[in-house]
Amino acid sequence: MGIQHLRRSPISATVDFDAHGVQHGFLRLPYSRDDSAWGSVMIPVTVVRNGEGPTALLTGGNHGDEYEGPAALFDLARRLVADEVRGRVIIVPAMNYPAFLAGTRTSPIDRGNMNRSFPGRPDGTVTEKIADYFQRVLLPLADVVLDFHSGGKTLDFLPFCAAHVLADQAQEAKAFEYVSAFGAPYSMKMLEIDAVGMYDTAAEEMGKVFITTELGGGGTATARSIGIAKAGAANVLKAAGILKGSAAPAETIWLDMPNGDCFAFAEDGGLIEPMVDLGDQVEAGDVVARIYPVGRTGAAPSEICAKMSGILCARHFPGLVKAGDCVAVIAVVVG
Ligand SMILES: [Zn+2]
Repeated sequence: MGIQHLRRSPISATVDFDAHGVQHGFLRLPYSRDDSAWGSVMIPVTVVRNGEGPTALLTGGNHGDEYEGPAALFDLARRLVADEVRGRVIIVPAMNYPAFLAGTRTSPIDRGNMNRSFPGRPDGTVTEKIADYFQRVLLPLADVVLDFHSGGKTLDFLPFCAAHVLADQAQEAKAFEYVSAFGAPYSMKMLEIDAVGMYDTAAEEMGKVFITTELGGGGTATARSIGIAKAGAANVLKAAGILKGSAAPAETIWLDMPNGDCFAFAEDGGLIEPMVDLGDQVEAGDVVARIYPVGRTGAAPSEICAKMSGILCARHFPGLVKAGDCVAVIAVVVG
């Protein structure tokens, strides 16, 4: 353990997480800069507490260009009243607030990708300081953590709620109970390309019940995708016993990402022609996209083939692609 673990977080909350009732305030992070010598980053937060009970931590805007979470959570924060709650709900609609304000995946201040910055540092960059606050202050308060994601500007997903395969089978089973309760159109047993530094991993290593989503993408959200996020958040709070009533999940199709073969990456840059759309069935070897070199006419496109059979659950969103971009993700329907 380095000295940074002994240092207090520079973030101070203007809300009292132990107080009863509804509080709307900020996580205030001092940020001295050219246009504000003693300025701060003001991250909106809502706490609703009523009596004793479990704590749910609901977050969006971990990546700044993903909008279902912020839209559902700004709405929930405005509507939730203490009488409806048993226990506590902590809502942070836009975790990486500078990135959210800029409409970018990473922070414009330090290029920090929040979901690769955990456990963070109290003496690090702005993004690392926010991660550290979640790591040492907010996550320890939580029993259930729901972190909303979507594809952002560069990916588009089938709408799913997800949890990870975990070493602790009881913890994993609990997480998948909550995925089921969320009730997205699809439910995913999710494999990460690179789990190091993720908020997910930080919460899971603390033994928390952690679920996440991918609800769309392209740097926008739709009435349907925001509706899925709103219903899912309410269902999760009901499943936790924080809101009254039982979760009423919609019909879901269970998907699995069994191994790294589910990902297809571009080896050339160029113009992408999708050959299948989200939700379409593909067989191993099928061409899922073509990439045309754009320097001249007459050249053959390269072909991106599925390495396994399943359905297309995610795809590259912009029309131009670069070598190394994730072009397609295949998932297996398991139920
Ligand atoms: Zn994300």
